[in-house]
Formats: sequence, C-alpha cells, structure tokens
Amino acid sequence: MRILLASSEVHPYSKTGGLADMVSGLSKTLARAGHRVGVVTPLYAGIEDRFSGLSRISEAFDLPVGPRRITAGILALEAEEGLTIYFVEQPGFYQRAAPYGVNGTDFVDNAERFVFFSKAVVELARRLPWRPELIHAHDWQTGLVPLLLLEEARQTGWPQPPRTCITVHNLAYQGLFPRHAFALTGLSWEHFHSEGVEFYGQLNCLKAGLLHAAAITTVSPRYAREIMTGEFGCGLDGLLLRRRHALTGILNGADYGEWNTTGNPFLEHSFSPADLSGKARQKSVLQRELGLPVDPSVPLFGSINRLVEQKGVEIQLAALDKMLGEGLQFVLLGSGDPGYQRAYQELADRHSDRMAVRFGFDQGLSHRIEAGCDFFLMPSRFEPCGLNQLYSLRYGTVPIVRATGGLDDSVIDAQEDSSGATGIKFRDYSSQALIKAVGKALALYAEPEWMAHYRCNGMAADFSWQKTAASYQGVYQSALNL
Ligand code: ADP
Repeated sequence: MRILLASSEVHPYSKTGGLADMVSGLSKTLARAGHRVGVVTPLYAGIEDRFSGLSRISEAFDLPVGPRRITAGILALEAEEGLTIYFVEQPGFYQRAAPYGVNGTDFVDNAERFVFFSKAVVELARRLPWRPELIHAHDWQTGLVPLLLLEEARQTGWPQPPRTCITVHNLAYQGLFPRHAFALTGLSWEHFHSEGVEFYGQLNCLKAGLLHAAAITTVSPRYAREIMTGEFGCGLDGLLLRRRHALTGILNGADYGEWNTTGNPFLEHSFSPADLSGKARQKSVLQRELGLPVDPSVPLFGSINRLVEQKGVEIQLAALDKMLGEGLQFVLLGSGDPGYQRAYQELADRHSDRMAVRFGFDQGLSHRIEAGCDFFLMPSRFEPCGLNQLYSLRYGTVPIVRATGGLDDSVIDAQEDSSGATGIKFRDYSSQALIKAVGKALALYAEPEWMAHYRCNGMAADFSWQKTAASYQGVYQSALNL
C-alpha cells in the first residue's frame, strides 16, 4: 500500500504527547512491513539544526488561506527505507517556541496555522510522484483533510484521489474556532450547518474529518465504545454512533526499540525479568538525581503527565497528603497548568524528604522515572489509550490505573486474573478510591515474591507495534475497498 500519514507532531522531530509516539511507531512499522510510507508534519523551530539530511524537494507552492496566499516549502528526510518524512516549511507559522502555544495559552492564529497545514497535506498528496492511495489524518489539526480532499478532487477532476482515514487520539480536543474562521478554508458555506462542520455556531475541524473520512479509528477498543456515549462523547457521540460501522478501536503499540531496559542511552543499568538487580540500581540513581533519600526499601511511586484535569491531577493532589504519610516516596514529572504546578511544588516543599517534582519536558528523566519507580500512577478521568502504562509494564514498574479507556484495556488486575495480574485498577473517580488502590500497592510491596510476579507478568506483556500496525492495515484495506 502507499500511505501518507499527516500529523502535527511526530517523534523524534516534535512531541507534546502520545500522538507523536503513535505516528512514529505506526509509520516505521508499516514501512518495515514493505509499504511505501510518507509522514507529513510542520517544520518547527530547531528541527533543521537537530537533524541532518533534510533536502528541499520540488518548488514551493502557494495556498489560499482566507484572503491571503501563503507559501509552503517542502523538505524531505529519508528516515529509513520506505519511510520519508515531509516537513512543511512556513516560518511565520511554525518557527515558534512550541507547536500549539506557550504557558498553557494557544497561539491566536492556530486556525490559520492548521487550515494551512491541512491544505498543504492535500496539495502534497497530489504532487507526490508515488501517488499515495490513502491519507491517514490524526486529530483536529488535520481534521479538515478528508473534506478538503473531496472538494479538491471534485473541483479539479483528480483521477482516483486517495481514500482517507482519521484517528481520534483525544476527543476532548476538537479544534473549535469562531464561525469566521471557516472562511479560511475556502470551502462552500453549504458545509457550515449542524449536520456539517458547524458545532454550536463554531467551526469544528475534527468533526469535518469524522463526517468525511472513509474510516475512523481511535486508540483503544474501550475508548471507541466510550465516545459513543454522552459521558465521553464531548457532543459528538450522536455523530459517532451514526458512523459506528466506520469506527474501530485499536490499542496503540509501544516502541520497544526506544522503551527498552537493555542498552538504553538514558539508563545507567540494564535489567531483565531474569535479573532485576539493575532495576534496583536504577532506583538509587533516580532517588539520587531527585535529591530524595537513597533507600532501596522505600516504595517509590512516579507519575509523568501533561498537567491537565483529564489526567486526574485533582484526585492525585487530594490523595497525596495522605499517601505521603504512608512511608512512600513520590516523584512527578509534568508540564502544563501553572496553578497545578504550584500545588505540586507546595506539597513537595512540605514533604521534601518524600516527594520531588520536576516541571518541563524531559525525555531522559521520563525513562529514568519509568525504570526507577516501583509503581506508576495514572488516575485519569478518561484516557483514550495512554502510553506510560505500557512503558511501565515493560520497565517492571507496576501501574496503578483508573479503569477507563486504554488503561482498562492494557492492564490486568488480580480480580480479572489472579495469576496473570500486571497492575492495580480502581473504578471510582475519587481520591478515596485512589488512596485505597495505593494501599493495595503497599500491601503488594510488602510481599516481595508477589511483587516480582507482577513485575515479570508486566515485562512479558506484548504491546509491540506489529499487532497494532496489522490492525491498521485491515482498516486501510477496507477503506480502499469501499
Ligand atoms: P497524552 O498524549 O494524553 O499526553 P499519553 O500517555 O498517550 O498521554 O502519552 C504521553 C507521552 O508523553 C508519553 O510518551 C510520556 O512519556 C510523554 N510525556 C508526557 N509528559 C512528559 C514530560 N513532562 N516529559 C517527558 N515526557 C513526557
């Protein structure tokens, strides 16, 4: 197959969350399976300095965005055999400190930036000599692609335009903009009504994709069921229910080439299920790095998060005072809401011998937290897939998760399978339920043999990309057969 993926972030070129990891893992695995794969993404600040081998291909082209014509340059990088990354260059839009905004505030011209990017994706698909037969869009930033493509094909008589698939990584982010932003698309106002791209008077970029893509996927089977309900549907549950035959939930894979307990450049010690002594040494490395008392006997809990309500920050903050009285250590790596950062900092100041916090985005530290902790906390209110629990499992760190979305699909607790358990789950979204789950974790920690059993079950669980990519191939094939 010839597949072009379109995403506003791709690891290792840019990343704010799981989307970047997913597009990277999927594209590599598809290419290694013999498909011709391209990924198109914006050329953000610093990419040209950090990666050599980018070359300018073709002439730049101009695209109409509202009343302006804006130039897109295209640079290409041969990432590996069969996989080309295409960077859309538009310095005015993308040479900024971050992909979407700074200090928790979105850039004011995000509608223009991503309408332009979506148009560039369609134009690139038309120009590429290898003629992609399927475009796989991701999230609201490329939500308009399926509709723009259909309109372009209709107006220009594009013979055999590519089919489209869109993946929802998080339905809570829909790309909502004031009505006048619709004029940026150049599409007919016939599309701007409640059965079209309008959503309570606003432009909804993701809805355009959900309406017009041949196939819709989301990142776990349970989240696929959840988003067809009023509780998780964010106002689009009716539409998703109507399109349920086009909707598939596919759990993301983990890139074990990167998230690896042996020969990992971010870790000082290697370890494996057969020999966990390296993990114990990594725990000391982490305690030392964060200025916590180096004590192998204290259970160490970790969390790595965007600090937003979705991730369960409120119940975690409410639970921490009690938890820290239970003789454990806690480390947090997070970025986002300054109010939440202050709340965590305040707790860490009060419990400096038990709790350490680091704010910002730090890839190396995220590996060391996953490897050095005994338990990993993910008390999310909702979680489409979640990747950190997959990394925890591989690193022998027992995940404590709320049973929602991909967390429920990927972690097995003792009630489900007592000998195959990999983690601890709780159901209610409350600090009491979280505290109770932490109590279970402490009881488990007091039984070293059981603890080792959980760790080894987790390390043996297989969430490699092969299975996930095979499911995507099935979805692509049905989209091509329509
Ligand atoms: P989401 O996409 O909702 O943020 P996921 O669990 O799917 O959540 O993916 C988060 C990804 O981002 C993981 O790879 C995680 O390790 C990484 N991550 C999140 N916050 C940080 C941070 N502050 N520093 C380093 N990596 C982070």
